[in-house]
Amino acid sequence: MIVMKFGGTSVESAAAIERVAGIVRSRFDLQPLVVVSAMGKTTNRLLAAGDKAAAGNLGDALRDIEDLRAFHRREAGAAIPKENHPIMETVLDNNFEQLEQTLQQIADAGQLTPALWDEISSYGERLSSALVALAFPGFGIPAVHLDARTVLITDSRHTQALPLYSRTYARFKEKAVPLLQGRVAVMGGFIGATPDGITTTLGRGGSDFSAAIAGAGIEAEEIQIWTDVDGMLTCDPRVLSGGHLVKRISFAEAAELAYFGAKVLHPSTVQPAIEKNIPVRILNSRRPEVGGTLIVAETVPSANAIKSIACKQSITVVEVRSLRMLMAHGFLRRIFEVFDRYKTPVDMVTTSEVCVALTIDQTHALGEIEAELSRIAEVTIVRDQAIICVVGDALRDTAGLGARIFGALRHVNIRMISQGASFNNVSFVVDGPDLVPAVQALHTGFFTEIDPQVFQ
Ligand code: ADP
Ligand code: ASP
Ligand code: MG
Repeated sequence: MIVMKFGGTSVESAAAIERVAGIVRSRFDLQPLVVVSAMGKTTNRLLAAGDKAAAGNLGDALRDIEDLRAFHRREAGAAIPKENHPIMETVLDNNFEQLEQTLQQIADAGQLTPALWDEISSYGERLSSALVALAFPGFGIPAVHLDARTVLITDSRHTQALPLYSRTYARFKEKAVPLLQGRVAVMGGFIGATPDGITTTLGRGGSDFSAAIAGAGIEAEEIQIWTDVDGMLTCDPRVLSGGHLVKRISFAEAAELAYFGAKVLHPSTVQPAIEKNIPVRILNSRRPEVGGTLIVAETVPSANAIKSIACKQSITVVEVRSLRMLMAHGFLRRIFEVFDRYKTPVDMVTTSEVCVALTIDQTHALGEIEAELSRIAEVTIVRDQAIICVVGDALRDTAGLGARIFGALRHVNIRMISQGASFNNVSFVVDGPDLVPAVQALHTGFFTEIDPQVFQ
């Protein structure tokens, strides 16, 4: 058994669904459990409609939803064989009727509560999985729809729920494994449900995580993440083109890259895979012949000391300075309590005797945080910063790498530096406009020559 996860762009149109069907058919003997994301930009469009309903524009929201229905009917309808069209109409009617009710509830509440956020954003995967399952038979693949909410059981932390692992694995064994005898099961990523059946989601980009949970649940031989790039590249293609494909990378390296912005993999994906030691492969659904990136448990030796450069843009640095607190205990605790109270995750931290600098990427409560911190210290907020993270297991024990990294960056002003506690990364903060030249300089410094065993 294997898990094959296809992201939003991989199922965005009839032609894309046909490509997916070709890929799945050619691996039918491996007994795939298919996990799909919402079609194209559906999740964003659902959330935009939810925002409109919450703001009192229910009419606008309902019109947007009609466009979304037409989009699903047109694209999925062109991939679904005629004999399945009556079932497709039922699927559309049922989902859009419930979706309208959800919009009405949001309008009544006057806000998108976390539970309603999960409810509205779940329809993308509910639709895509049911529709792709109806399309597969037309391409010669016997298929069945598996509602993720009956197997992926989570806690009730809406918008970022975590699986209740033992229950979830038991459900996958009991419900999913039997479906895979002679058929492909198609399940939506991203969504789950509490033990009481309330819909939850695993957070944006969470379908990769769903695929890994499913893989661990059915004890798959491999978890495949099919996307719109050839695999993990040596740099973020949205920041710098010309990156090389990383053919093999360790779980530890992949996790660090994902955490620091390599969107190609959701940061939680590797955890269930590590636990059950299941290899993860990233592949391109538009170029299935490319070998992709294989993520494995052990360190991958390479002549290149680093494997890839990740980055996060639009980062805010909060600097907290207090002479009064010099040498006093409890200063750090008081600072972190403030971020905790406003549910704002801190990514990077550096400290000196009297100053603590932290980075955050969620600024919804920045005003309140600044006000509270100002009661105990002097606070400076620096916006439009970027984190760059250089990752490689060899960073642990290669002398002189620091000199090479900062030599490459000799023309760039660096605000914060941190050698990650995991030892396989060095991260630093630069001004937003310096991001591209900094990544370019590092990439030239480390990847002008590549080890053909590891890169392509
Ligand atoms: P999907 O919809 O298939 O889940 P995502 O958009 O979530 O796809 O992730 C794929 C995208 O990740 C790529 O199109 C690319 O822009 C981005 N990305 C960021 N960093 C990297 C990297 N180091 N290697 C490859 N892709 C990356
Ligand atoms: N559809 C969800 C999102 O857009 C989950 C995913 O694509 O992984 O965030
Ligand atoms: Mg993704």
